[in-house]
Amino acid sequence: MTKGNINVSVENIFPLIKKFLYSDHEIFLRELISNATDATLKLKHLTNIGESKVEYGNPQIEVKVDKDAKKLHIIDQGLGMTADEVEKYINQVAFSGAEEFLDKYKDAAQDAGIIGHFGLGFYSAFMVADKVEIITKSHKDEAAAHWTCDGSPEYTLEEANKTDRGTEIILHIAEDSTEFLEDSRISELLLKYNKFMPVPIKFGTKTETLPKPEDAKEDDPAPTQEVENIINNPNPAWTKLPADLEEDDYKNFYRELYPMQFEEPLFNIHLNVDYPFNLTGILYFPKMSADMQIQKDKIQLYQNQVFVTDNVEGIVPEFLTMLRGVIDSPDIPLNVSRSYLQADGAVKKISSYITRKVADKLKSLFNNNREDFEAKWDDIKIVIEYGMLSEEKFFEKADAFALYPTVDGTYYTYEELFNKIKAKQTDKDDKLVILYASDKDAQHSYIEAAKVKGYEVLLLDSPIVSHLIQKLETTKENISFARVDGDHIDNLIKKEDTAISKLSEDEKKSLDELLKEVVPSEKFMVQLEAMDSDASPFMITQPEFMRRMKEMQQTGGGGMFGMGNMPEMYNLVVNTNSELVSEILNTKTRKKQERLINQSLDLARLSQGLLKGQELTNFIKRSYDMIK
Ligand code: ADP
Ligand code: MG
Repeated sequence: MTKGNINVSVENIFPLIKKFLYSDHEIFLRELISNATDATLKLKHLTNIGESKVEYGNPQIEVKVDKDAKKLHIIDQGLGMTADEVEKYINQVAFSGAEEFLDKYKDAAQDAGIIGHFGLGFYSAFMVADKVEIITKSHKDEAAAHWTCDGSPEYTLEEANKTDRGTEIILHIAEDSTEFLEDSRISELLLKYNKFMPVPIKFGTKTETLPKPEDAKEDDPAPTQEVENIINNPNPAWTKLPADLEEDDYKNFYRELYPMQFEEPLFNIHLNVDYPFNLTGILYFPKMSADMQIQKDKIQLYQNQVFVTDNVEGIVPEFLTMLRGVIDSPDIPLNVSRSYLQADGAVKKISSYITRKVADKLKSLFNNNREDFEAKWDDIKIVIEYGMLSEEKFFEKADAFALYPTVDGTYYTYEELFNKIKAKQTDKDDKLVILYASDKDAQHSYIEAAKVKGYEVLLLDSPIVSHLIQKLETTKENISFARVDGDHIDNLIKKEDTAISKLSEDEKKSLDELLKEVVPSEKFMVQLEAMDSDASPFMITQPEFMRRMKEMQQTGGGGMFGMGNMPEMYNLVVNTNSELVSEILNTKTRKKQERLINQSLDLARLSQGLLKGQELTNFIKRSYDMIK
């Protein structure tokens, strides 16, 4: 037997480790299983290239809890270690790794910036155990070794009589860590970190129902048997080649990742690069609900099939954090803060690769099956519009697939829309005017009025649309967006024939005076317009500019114009060619004129959803009186 002192300069490193890594004790299991996996895959490689003569077989990793003896065992059938190798890899490598780690992170570990996943390795066993044993038999023809260490720099190393190849790690679980002696806790950790590791992991048994024997009676219970419980899928879909997967494989994998999700994903994107960095993965577009926050943190990050985190902020561009799925890359540095991550060159490349890949996929979906893409547009537009706003590269690419639906359900690309309306919808400066509605029901009368004139009206109803159109107006040449109930379309669009006014100049003047006396001037700017005689007599509009600024303030991005409290100001457009307006002018008594104006004004407000409370009650009462 050998006794020795581990060569570390820190007198007793273990309490320090415990303290620094306090919140993340559970990662010890992931580290030990990663080591067991490495040892197994190394042996596979050695047997493949003929360097090891042993039979590789079907190795497994087994996790066993011995609650009574307060021990946790992790057993592998990998390449094992000779006594010399234990000296070298455990006493020197593992421990020096830990020391180096501490040196590096003594200060940083307290700063919340550290994401808490670092490859501390074998050493992390001491976060939960006050004594650790290694019993290991190398694939080489040498005696097994037994190493024991109680958490001080002292260890013992002696011969053991283990005969089968591989390594068993035994943790004597400390008093403050007995949670790791609970089956349920271990199961939970295995499912969290090891669900897709490449070597089968066995934990306990499960009950399997067998078919009933021929002669069984109707209500005899079906026989059962206890079978090994393998907790992982060693060959998850993302590790395979896209060419080897069918649509159903992707859907099944989605279910495996999110067993509680009943909704099918809309489509998937298989990521697969090995140069200039290594990255594989599958991203899914789920059906989006209006609540984007809830959907965050659903993409899982793996390193070589080991779960690392489901917080991919900084790695995946923000607008794609609403997606689900897996990315796996050994090239993402994990032991650094988030702000560092965002500045890291390799990570930036990964992020822009993902953006490009998503854009390419959307483009090919659009080209291959436009009808299907249009049908899904409502569910994916939030992500796409958000991406167009936040990533310049994505904005450029999105021209090929971003859709602009009309109120009647025709979907145009920007180019198609442009060609469709360029002949008809221009303003006095020859700028293209893109009319849109944000709510089909609330703006119904305005939409109809525009359609009667043969204009195209888009339906743009996502919450960030005011930002998006602002962006389009500044990037595309010579266009402006106008909501149908904004400034009146007759003022917006250059018309070849201006309607002739039925009223004389004198009549117009007295109408104007009358209206200004009755209509409250602090709320409405009265505008007289000679429109078609069957257009609405009174119409309320809100200047596009003012409304949009308000919306942008509400959805963030406000403040920049310094308009904290813009007044509620509307236009009241009065159609001087309507019969009602002539009637108001020709009504003899002043009282009756006022009543007609107020009634008309209220109707106009009603159609904009602006009539509420006491005013609405008064309006209804007045209406009944009038029809009595
Ligand atoms: P790392 O895994 O990053 O190399 P660790 O501290 O986890 O660092 O492990 C140190 C070394 O100990 C490993 O590189 C390996 O050589 C050896 N080792 C650890 N666990 C096992 C095991 N189960 N079987 C064989 N060798 C192991
Ligand atoms: Mg390791």
